[in-house]
Parts: sequence; structure tokens; C-alpha cells
Amino acid sequence: MLTNQQMEKYAELAVRIGANMQKGQEVVIRCDVQCADFAHLIAAKAYEFGAKMVHMEWRDEKLDRINMLNASKEAISDIPEYRKAMWDYSIEHKCCLISISADDPNKFKGCDAAKLSAYEIAFQLKRQAFRNATMSNYLRWTIVSIPTPAWAQQIFPKDDVDTAMDKLWNAIGHIMRLDQKDPTEAWRKHIDTLVKRAAFLTKHNFEYVHMYNKQGTDLTVGLATDHLWIAAQEEGQDGIPFTANMPTEEVFTAPHNRKINGVVTNALPLVNNGNVIDNFRIVFKDGKVTDFSAEVGYDALKGLLSSDKGVLSLGEIALIGKNSPIAESGILFYNTLFDENASCHLAFGASYPTTVKGGNEMSQEQLVAHGMNQSIQHVDFMVGTKDIDIDGIAYDGTVTPIFRNGEWVI
Ligand code: ZN
Ligand code: ZN
Repeated sequence: MLTNQQMEKYAELAVRIGANMQKGQEVVIRCDVQCADFAHLIAAKAYEFGAKMVHMEWRDEKLDRINMLNASKEAISDIPEYRKAMWDYSIEHKCCLISISADDPNKFKGCDAAKLSAYEIAFQLKRQAFRNATMSNYLRWTIVSIPTPAWAQQIFPKDDVDTAMDKLWNAIGHIMRLDQKDPTEAWRKHIDTLVKRAAFLTKHNFEYVHMYNKQGTDLTVGLATDHLWIAAQEEGQDGIPFTANMPTEEVFTAPHNRKINGVVTNALPLVNNGNVIDNFRIVFKDGKVTDFSAEVGYDALKGLLSSDKGVLSLGEIALIGKNSPIAESGILFYNTLFDENASCHLAFGASYPTTVKGGNEMSQEQLVAHGMNQSIQHVDFMVGTKDIDIDGIAYDGTVTPIFRNGEWVI
């Protein structure tokens, strides 16, 4: 368990380093009802730093499961207008967004896969404008996490609830640098290191990134024309920096969605929409998935890959060294926010317009011409094994080692 003082520091990180809320701004906190105490702490902290108003978007994963089990496919896919109204309000009022991610990885276990994917598609369509506003950094946003009983017990199944919660709190405290004297300062330093690596990669302007390991991954990922590598700190469209994911260890950019070839295998299980998918293998040709298999969660993977056309290509390639505090913890979190930061990853689906020069000003056609992928999905999956090697290949064919044995060499 963290001390009260550490909890205060954590709330401050979310407000100041994460969303980087500005004086007079409105804030939307989005979280499960189980996280209410921490949400209230964040709300109080937001006012301390000059918030105009704090709104809540309460979620309730237990009710979500009850609904998924009992409501009809039609009823569950009819996303109410009032939810869209709330998202529209956030856009109109330029709210900054703070999400607390603490999902039970199995909340939809055993639910009907067709119903789940119908719901997911309807939900993403309804949320399209809002998603565009966050993915293009029109709104500043951040995601942080705290333990919940179901999540903690999934990670530490042999422990009783209290012990599991304690262990997860300790892990998160360390990963979030809350055990350091000045967490805010520690974060500023960390962000600086990542930003320098991103600048190095952007300067090299590689045509391809080649990733390979002993597990069978041998994938060439073309990079979008005029791509930008981004790390830790992004810039809102208003020019104000923010840190979207906390923790974050990644340096990422956009693949070229017609220039991806080869085979990739996963390094960690993928938890998507309340289902675990593991031991999977994806084959790409000219930017598209042409074949896939999965020993665990094949139907969930198949459901995901049938969301739309764009989900069959990639929207992100992200690099993370195996010595990051999350990777070093050796814990499998069953939560993408953490697990994606333990391992190099790719994402099925949409790319971020911010990962190409001038992307926010481009039309849909221009983005497509640059190789930027479009989809209603964006689902990260982890591919960075401890032995992964990664090279950058320049337009003239020069090869620059980026990773050796799972760690940065630049
Ligand atoms: Zn990522
Ligand atoms: Zn991602």
C-alpha cells in the first residue's frame, strides 16, 4: 500500500505530468466505480492546480458483464446518445481527460464472442469523433492505473486478495517512481531520455525496421512517409505538452500500411475486450494480415481481426528495452498499459496522425498516401522477446542496429 503522501504525489503526476491540466480548464475523469477514492483525490488535486470544473464518466465493469450476459445483441449494440453527448461535451469544452485503467482482465470471460464484437464495433463507431479528438491530440489526455481486487488476483492468483492488492500497489509504486524522493522530477528526467532516442530515430528517417528473434519473428515493417518517432511527451494541438500513458517507456511511430512483410509471434498474452489471446502468430504480405493462428483465444483474435478492413494492417510500432522497470518487475499485468511498456509492440488498426509530419492538417487521402492506417480499432500486442534484434534500414540500404538482445543499442 502506498502512503497518503505517495497517493497525493500520484494524483499530482496524473494532473500535471500526465494530462498537464492548465489553469481554468475542465477535467473529465473516466474510471470504474471501484476507483472512486483515487478519482476523488485526482479531482481535489485538479482544483488545487486551478481546474475550472471536474466531471466524472463512471464505468462499472460488473454491470458491463451482467449486461453482456443478459441483454440481447441488438440492445447491447445500441450505444445510448447520452454517452456520445458526454464525449461531445469534452470536445466542445476542450476538457483534459484522465482515465484510470484497472480492468478485470476476465470481465467478459465466457461471454458470447459475436455479441462482444458487435458491441465493440458499435461502441467504436459511436465514439469516432471523440477518438479522433484524442488520437490527434486535439484534447490532452492521460491514463494511469491503480489496483482493483479482480485485477490483482489475476496477476497474483496464489495470494489472498489483500496480499495481491499489496503486491500490485508496490509494483505500481515502483514503476510510477513514487518511491523516489521527487516523483515529478524523476518523471521529467525519464521523459528526457526517451525524447532523445526518438529524435535519433526520426533523424535517420529509416525506410524499414527489421525485427527478428529465435521464436520465429522475422518481420519487415515499412515506416510511413515522413514519419516521426514520438516518446513520452507529446504536444497537444494547442502546443501544450502532455504524457498520454503513465507509465510510458516507449518510442513509437507509424508503419507504412502497404509495406509490412513477414511473420510475427507474440511475446506476452494480449488481453482484448475481456479475453486473453496467447501463443499467436500473424503473417503479413504487402501490409495486410494474410494468415493467423492462436493457441489461446483464437475466436477472440478472429473477432478482433474482422472488425473492419483496417484492422488487418498495423498502426503503430513501438520500441521498449527489456531493462525498463516494468520489464524488470517480471510481472505479467494483463493490462495493456503496463504490458505494452514491458515489451516492443505493434498495434492492429489505426495509426496516430501525430506520428507523421503535419499529420493533423492532412486530409484522409493524404494520410492514406503516406501509408497511415485507418481503422475503428487500435489494439497493441507485444512482440519484444528478450532476444529480439531490431535494425533500421535506410532508403540507401544502410543497416543501423537499434536493438540487440532485447535492449537499446543507441
Ligand atoms: Zn504504444
Ligand atoms: Zn498503441
